[in-house]
Amino acid sequence: MTSYYISLSRCNECGRIFSNWGFGSGNTLGAERYTDGRVEAPMFDPGQSLLSCPYCGLLMWTRDTRALCTMRDVDYMWLFERDLFGLKEDEKRAVDKSVLSSQLKGVSDDDIDSLLRDKPKTAGTPDMIAAMQEKPWRNREEEKYVLVNAWWKLNRLSSEERTAFSSVSAAICERLPFLLDESRDAELIMKAECFRLSGRMEQAVSLLSSRSVAGEYVEWASFVKKLAERGDSEIRKIPDNS
Ligand SMILES: [Zn+2]
Repeated sequence: MTSYYISLSRCNECGRIFSNWGFGSGNTLGAERYTDGRVEAPMFDPGQSLLSCPYCGLLMWTRDTRALCTMRDVDYMWLFERDLFGLKEDEKRAVDKSVLSSQLKGVSDDDIDSLLRDKPKTAGTPDMIAAMQEKPWRNREEEKYVLVNAWWKLNRLSSEERTAFSSVSAAICERLPFLLDESRDAELIMKAECFRLSGRMEQAVSLLSSRSVAGEYVEWASFVKKLAERGDSEIRKIPDNS
């Protein structure tokens, strides 16, 4: 069974308390891997480093949010999915309030009442293309995170939709190669993908020929190189050989 842990945090902008869900455990079973490095799998959590407040839309880095408390999914259900249990509403509310008050130290009674009245909304993953315009990063790693995620999103749009974002797309393909770290195998291949997907086939091939990669990256690199040599600039699923 999948387990989640849920944390409750307060937004620095509007002061409302929101929830944030993370996998307690995950895996890449049934994963689909794409040439741009994106992995899609039912139980794989790529992590949410950048969140948006579900109430006011403020962008915030997860590492900067201070959790008021973190609870397991079963405890969260007990508190907020009240219809699932057979208790009468008033009985349950009394139990809930004491449980929540003990978990949320330093949170006012009013806040606890309003949490129990309206289940906390869940922080969302921001639209990374829109987030790019806001430039919420403070360093290269954060910039890379936003750009890679915006790039992954753009790569999955239909060709008509992509046309509308052609200037954003061009900006990412210009900037991302400078942010990706060639000494890491995955980023070397992603950098080659930036070149290949924007039609710079020779650069893609020459980068992938510059050094060899190891282990799980071998197949991915050789597939991307083959596509570039063929002049193919489409995003592809990496064939599953297992
Ligand atoms: Zn907010």
